[in-house]
Amino acid sequence: MSIQRAAPPNPELLARFAAIVGEKYAVTDPAAQAPYLVEMRGLYHGRTQLVLRPGATAEVAAILRLANETRTPIVPQGGNTGLVGGQIPLAGELVLSLTRLDRIREVDPISNTMTCEAGVVLANAQAAAAAAERLFPLSLAAEGSCTIGGNLATNAGGTAVLAYGNARELVLGLEVVLADGRIWNGLTKLKKDNTGYDLKQLFVGAEGTLGIITAAVLKLFPRPRAVETAFAGVASPRAALALLNLAEERAGGAVTSFELMPRIAVEFALRHGAGTRDPLGAPHPWYVLIELSSAARDGLRASLEELLATAAERGLLADAAIAASIEQAQSFWHLRNLISETQRPEGGSIKHDVSVPVAAVPEFIEAASAAVQALIPGCRPVPFGHLGDGNVHFNVSQPVGADKAEFLAQWGAVNARVHEIVGKFHGSISAEHGIGRLKRDVLPHVKDPVALELMRALKHTLDPNCILNPGKLL
Ligand code: FAD
Ligand code: ZN
Repeated sequence: MSIQRAAPPNPELLARFAAIVGEKYAVTDPAAQAPYLVEMRGLYHGRTQLVLRPGATAEVAAILRLANETRTPIVPQGGNTGLVGGQIPLAGELVLSLTRLDRIREVDPISNTMTCEAGVVLANAQAAAAAAERLFPLSLAAEGSCTIGGNLATNAGGTAVLAYGNARELVLGLEVVLADGRIWNGLTKLKKDNTGYDLKQLFVGAEGTLGIITAAVLKLFPRPRAVETAFAGVASPRAALALLNLAEERAGGAVTSFELMPRIAVEFALRHGAGTRDPLGAPHPWYVLIELSSAARDGLRASLEELLATAAERGLLADAAIAASIEQAQSFWHLRNLISETQRPEGGSIKHDVSVPVAAVPEFIEAASAAVQALIPGCRPVPFGHLGDGNVHFNVSQPVGADKAEFLAQWGAVNARVHEIVGKFHGSISAEHGIGRLKRDVLPHVKDPVALELMRALKHTLDPNCILNPGKLL
């Protein structure tokens, strides 16, 4: 989208923005700005003249009205845990941080809804639901810092998608500030509402390019009375998939998570993660973490035991441990959650967040592993993730002893090869992390051209001056 840009905001304009939130919440000090300008993976460093921290929806609206009038680009930011650079001001845009909008406006256990402002940290939303004997099921390793607004803007996935769906499926209503400063109050609790286009879904997964989410009505579920967790050693992704099918047949809706990990990922976590131990005595080529949960108090342990016994009889698993306590279940999850960060001490890691049809996951992993090893002999594929959703984090660690910079210089070539294989399986190059800046230039090569035209038309309609997160996604 080519748009005529105004000159960077002058001191007088910056002062008008600052006046909206008050001096205390208009951050200009470089040290105080620093945490807003870098992201987890260190891939992107931003710069800005001003970080604005509004405390109310009306302030967000006033900021956008002024930004639109003066053609001043804005980058919305929540917990800054995004993995594709979407929340970083790469061209000196103003940062609009939503973290002060952190009120839980209401928990309604009868309607099974919760109304949260955009800056509510996901773990706090989960805790508020639990306090009302309900479950808010969205769960990901960044839940201690990511926010509801960021979760919705990225349509976050995580480890409970198998049973409850993506963030998209967990939202009933939204409050959104549009590019021109108008506030759309769509905070409905209705499950049924066929009065036209489902507008909220436009903003979910839009990565802050169509509007600023300021609050959301989220769905709640009965709080599980029983949760059972197992860690199983399996021979291959194919065996893991057969085990998943068996689990879904036998345990029905009780399968809440089904995570696949190769031995190398577990080794990295054991080597570099604090407080870890191998749940199984002997090493296995692959592992799955299975979680079952149920609103009924009794019987779940027996179902899990029966499932694992049947799987062993059929040769689908070599060994398994069932968590005997909450602490042990947490230690299984701790190991799983360490898999991303414990790749870092092993040197460079080239990342992919892809999905293919669930049935194609084993073949995809085989083909992609062979392809990257042919490209870079000695590189170490670390494919792990949410098998039940067909979502593989196909990460590739550098060969032992290789030069990190030289390895990372092949990021584009490795991506291209892996994405080509994803294409053969009719998969997606972004299963859950989004496009942001990281995959923006790849998108036109893989997305249907008519879909891209529709996306650009929506962007033009909702943000004609292109002030909302320019240069991201499209
Ligand atoms: P930010 O990083 O601040 O922003 C993300 C994007 O949303 C940006 O484009 C930003 O401009 C936009 N945005 C933020 N707030 C708003 C708003 N209120 N209105 C409009 N746009 C907004 N993601 C998964 O899906 N599944 C996982 O399992 C997962 N695991 C992770 C594990 C770790 C250790 C880490 C670091 C990240 C993980 N992520 C995962 C990625 C990340 O946590 C999610 O994308 C999360 O939803 C981002 O939330 P945030 O509040 O940090 O958003
Ligand atoms: Zn994931």
